[in-house]
Amino acid sequence: MPQGFETESRKLLVRLRDVMASGEAGQARLNEIVRLIANSMRAEVCSIYLFRDADTLELCATEGLQQEAVHQTRMRLGEGLVGRVAKTRRVVNTADAPAARGFRYMPETGEERYSSFCGIPVQRIGETMGVLVVQSRVSREFTADEVYALEVVAMVLAEMNELGAFAGEGAAMRTRHQEPVMFKGLVGQEGAAGGNVYLHEPRVVVTNVVADDPDVELARLREAVDTLRISVDEMLTQAKTVNKDQKQVLEAYRMFANSRGWMKRMEADIAQGLSAEAAVEKEQSLARTRMQSADSYLRDRLHDLDDLSNRLLRILTGQGSNTGAEVPVNPVLVARNIGPGELLDYGKKIKGIVLEEGSVGSHAAIIARAWAIPLVIQATGITAEALNGDPILVDGDQGIAHLRPDDTVLAAFRDKMAMQTEAQARYAGIRGLPAQTKCGTVIGLHMNAGLMADLPSLESSGAEGVGLFRTELQFLIRSQMPKRAELSALYAQVMDAANGKRVTFRTLDIGSDKVLPYMKLNDEPNPAMGWRAIRVGLEKPGVLRMQLQALIRAANGRPLTVMFPFVAQLEEFRSARAEFDKAMAREGILGHPLPSAVEIGAMLETPSLAFAPDIFFKEVDFISIGGNDLKQFFFAADRENERVRRRYDTLNVSFLSFLEQLIARCHAHNTPVSFCGEDAGRPVEAVAFAAMGLRNLSMRPASIGPVKHMLRRLNLDDVRTVIHEARERGDQSVRSAINDFLRQQI
Ligand code: PEP
Ligand code: MG
Repeated sequence: MPQGFETESRKLLVRLRDVMASGEAGQARLNEIVRLIANSMRAEVCSIYLFRDADTLELCATEGLQQEAVHQTRMRLGEGLVGRVAKTRRVVNTADAPAARGFRYMPETGEERYSSFCGIPVQRIGETMGVLVVQSRVSREFTADEVYALEVVAMVLAEMNELGAFAGEGAAMRTRHQEPVMFKGLVGQEGAAGGNVYLHEPRVVVTNVVADDPDVELARLREAVDTLRISVDEMLTQAKTVNKDQKQVLEAYRMFANSRGWMKRMEADIAQGLSAEAAVEKEQSLARTRMQSADSYLRDRLHDLDDLSNRLLRILTGQGSNTGAEVPVNPVLVARNIGPGELLDYGKKIKGIVLEEGSVGSHAAIIARAWAIPLVIQATGITAEALNGDPILVDGDQGIAHLRPDDTVLAAFRDKMAMQTEAQARYAGIRGLPAQTKCGTVIGLHMNAGLMADLPSLESSGAEGVGLFRTELQFLIRSQMPKRAELSALYAQVMDAANGKRVTFRTLDIGSDKVLPYMKLNDEPNPAMGWRAIRVGLEKPGVLRMQLQALIRAANGRPLTVMFPFVAQLEEFRSARAEFDKAMAREGILGHPLPSAVEIGAMLETPSLAFAPDIFFKEVDFISIGGNDLKQFFFAADRENERVRRRYDTLNVSFLSFLEQLIARCHAHNTPVSFCGEDAGRPVEAVAFAAMGLRNLSMRPASIGPVKHMLRRLNLDDVRTVIHEARERGDQSVRSAINDFLRQQI
């Protein structure tokens, strides 16, 4: 790049910074900026367009076009060349604008005289805020150096806009992060919650975009990158316990951290006048733009680069991932995504959760559900818009989050919350009553749990017992393997808290998305169908044995119920049971009191077990249907992949028929059977399961009231008729038939 050009560009940035520092109003600033850029670029026209809403751009300032057009000329996303730049987030650089694809003539601007056009997206870490345009009479393409300089300017404009430098009259010049915004995502967990944003990964705020001394900035960048490299290398050497995926990510980190190309681009940005952190952010922004159109492999890699950029920004600004931001009252967690371990770390203080990504089948979602925390997933853009402490309402029933809600939304929401409280009161009123249908069938309602903190719900929900105690949650919240004595004390506490009610302890279900940082699992292409749960327990029985011992000791002469997860065939159940018998024998020899009664069950989570030999149904003391996993294998649809998961309804006729046949088999052998997947807690599904013959359901505590309320109002014979007719008609799912029926009934 020519030296003189660079100096010119730096001068321009310094002038822009002065404008930023001036006490002027937003409009005056913009006017000054377009004048400065036009002069510096020797272009007759410079204009800035900003979004007034998600689909409309507005001309906010211009040097060279008709002033009357300012705030009048608007175009939709994708419309005209400016709209195209905004939509594609790519530069349009043409010598003959009227001949360019998509050109749209705006007569009020008087732009017909200008032939060359160069439009640059004004964007900040993946979010497009507007378009910067320069035009000139002579027909020429802007040079690569000029385009590059304009990109740097656009980046500075984006940062200025983010910091509120252009606040003024009208929607396009609104102050950012202050307006109400609604995010329409998907339902992760029903319920309503109001509170204040608590960002899982607070954004780094860059306030010094333009720097005076490029040498100082270069030195800062190099030092920060060195620190970054060392920390990535450290992560890799400490990474003995990570699986292949995590290792791949770290390798990618290392590759980027050592990438000459990345470094060179940032150095060039600094030479143009950006500060080190602004240079990092500029490259991060570009990577995010590329991410939108990349294939999934490349997207993952760009994701890695994004994470790495964040790390670098934290090093440069000294803002740690823990920014010291106080937890606001009624915190609503806002994050791109979150793992089950991280969510457990936050604990129940969280009032609501909104995720940009996330899936209903993930274990983080299950935990949110278990804790009855309203959860909205797939809320695109929320992490860029929300600031720590912003008021937010989470409408889990509709999958909507209202950020900085206005008074009308707030009032409507309060009504909704009041209704929810009213419903709670109704459920509390039937807490002591059985879930007895109108036809006299009694359904046992149990709750799912996993932590000591869940146990008080046993009393408040009216559950008959704990139908599924997910023991892995205890392992997930620790940084090292718990000791046998700790586990035994904990299980004893759980049994004490249950006060004689039955607790079904499921042995460790590790693998798939439940990864323990301290336990090495195999590198597997498809962990959900890989070495997980009882497969790990039988092949490496150390932890299973310890757990069984801890359970027997915890029972201390009381009855004990244990079930094994993910049993796919008879032999696995037999081997697992043999482990239990051995543990009993050992404990007996050691003189520990043995449980007064023992029940050993299996979770049915793979279709294969439904077709096991009859003898399995005789040997097993009970079966618990794990619908979450069973459904994913029945339909071959990953429970964590929202795209495919949502195609297949639980009330799909094939799935219901499968359940019906399985339940009939259990009844024929007098094998107690229950259902403990998430669907058991959904009233309509629960009714269908009861109609198919299930007499015991285990669900999150908050579902017990609604499910019981529904069951008590129905006659299961009627529901069976509805299902039968829907089947006869060849309906794919019985959902709409049941819903119609419920509407008439209730
Ligand atoms: C299930 O698969 O339905 C189940 C209850 O187990 P988890 O959700 O913990 O895999
Ligand atoms: Mg499961």
